[in-house]
Amino acid sequence: MEARELLASVSSLSEETEFYTPLPDGYKLGQCRYVIVVGTVMSGLGKGIFSSSLAKLLKDKGFVVAPIKLEGYLNIDSGTLNPYRHGEVFVLDDGKECDMDLGTYERMLDQDLCCDNFATSGQILTEVLEKERKGSYLGRDVQMIPHVTGEVKMKLRKLALNSGADVVFVEIGGTVGDYENAYYIEAARELAYEEGPGKVCFVALTYVMEPKILGEQKSKAAQLGVKRLMAMGIQPHIIACRAASPASEKVRQKISIYTNVPIERVVSMHDRESIYMIPEQLRQAGTDQQVLELLGLTDKADKKADQRHHRQWTDFVRRIKEADHEITIGITGKYTALRDSYASIIKALEHAGTHLGAKVSIQWIDTTEVNSQNVAELLKNVQGIIVPGGFGIRGTQGKIACIEYARTHKLPFLGICLGFQMAVLEFARNVCSLSGANSTEIEPDCAEPVIDILPEQKKIEGLGGNMRLGGQDIDVTPGTLAADLFGQARRIRMRFRHRYEVDPKYIEQLEKAGLIFSGRHPTQPIMQILELSRELHPYFIGTQAHPCLTSRPLRPNPMFSGLVEAALRRAG
Ligand code: GLN
Repeated sequence: MEARELLASVSSLSEETEFYTPLPDGYKLGQCRYVIVVGTVMSGLGKGIFSSSLAKLLKDKGFVVAPIKLEGYLNIDSGTLNPYRHGEVFVLDDGKECDMDLGTYERMLDQDLCCDNFATSGQILTEVLEKERKGSYLGRDVQMIPHVTGEVKMKLRKLALNSGADVVFVEIGGTVGDYENAYYIEAARELAYEEGPGKVCFVALTYVMEPKILGEQKSKAAQLGVKRLMAMGIQPHIIACRAASPASEKVRQKISIYTNVPIERVVSMHDRESIYMIPEQLRQAGTDQQVLELLGLTDKADKKADQRHHRQWTDFVRRIKEADHEITIGITGKYTALRDSYASIIKALEHAGTHLGAKVSIQWIDTTEVNSQNVAELLKNVQGIIVPGGFGIRGTQGKIACIEYARTHKLPFLGICLGFQMAVLEFARNVCSLSGANSTEIEPDCAEPVIDILPEQKKIEGLGGNMRLGGQDIDVTPGTLAADLFGQARRIRMRFRHRYEVDPKYIEQLEKAGLIFSGRHPTQPIMQILELSRELHPYFIGTQAHPCLTSRPLRPNPMFSGLVEAALRRAG
């Protein structure tokens, strides 16, 4: 009897059996397929890029795909993580704060994700402990195996059920051998056993070294890494070799021999100029076809849809390579040392640039060093600036100096979240003569608290979980720059992550002096987009939202396209 049949015949939890396979209502074992991606040798190899590229190739063929990232850390979500250490916090439409890899999935798949697509150990363990308190484990001692692993499987199966996915792509964070991820790998092994043969495909992403002193590629670390996975009871079906240059035939052969993986399934995933070239790399290696074959899905692929999507994507990638109008956009911010903190902004610029044939270079501007004396010199080589989101006081004075310069010198400007708030303050101080204008985040007792905490949030204390988060509708005022950018749409939607906002009592004064609030909350007096009249400035716009979070390769966010367009005009 197959494990699947045996498991289906016993109740998921009883006194009589050692089997513990909690299944969501309506879930049938063996119906959904899973691709599980693990990393060996080292982390940071781009499991998310690999997994999302492969998922894209299946989506192109008409399959419904659902990705999930399993994080080892104990935080409940990524909201409290420092972007300086972990990269940007990516916010989903439902308000979930998660790892930046979810951004890679959304962009690559052009698909909105939700809290089902992300889990941390903190979240999994909380669920187990809550069940324990409710007595859901029928008097048993609650163990890592099978109860915690059971919760992991439950999470994956719920995603399969809720999303109606044909294939769920599971990315296990960290590296095989890490303590904190070991139970995820064990859960994956159990899942493969329970779902039955041909339902789960394991991919090991590994690293092929090329030490300078030897001048050739070496496969030993990769072999040992995969062996470690095999010792955990998992035979990979596919091995993807990350490497600086294409993994040689010899290296692939060696890895194949040591791991029982046929050579055609040991694929090279070497460095490319853009991550958007990875899907083509996998397509050419035939990895998508192999996955379909392993999962018994070959016959179900929609070849016509695949060709159509392939053409679109190839065209997009060709345009990345061909873009040649060079412009430079300055990005001001305190995390300038770590680009990952601004990953979505960089991507959004890339999307907009590609569509407009522009090669966008970025000049990082550390605003802790900017003042009204040196600002002109610092901005002399940029054709536009972005003042991005952020928290706290550091560098805010410099940001305001940059915005003043952009406003008074007709330099294209896009303010995002904190950048929007700083633009309001700059205008209040320098145009409305409110010299005491400030944000209470920066100066709690300021004379003119133009930016203040949201009224409904005033009661909430402490960090984490108390921000205005996720997708919100925005009503756009007809006849404005914003309306033009968004194709005259009356209502748009963007994602938010903030605590402070424009105090409604200053709106009239600001508008009288010429600041236009062209995007507002549909029912509450929350200002969401600001701009200057196009007669006064070629491109001056800001938003309380994060437009970069919803920019997609084939659908750039219009606020970024507008900035790049204006910068191109300025460059001449
Ligand atoms: N610190 C500001 C606020 O909380 C802006 C937040 C942000 O830029 N994400 O409102």
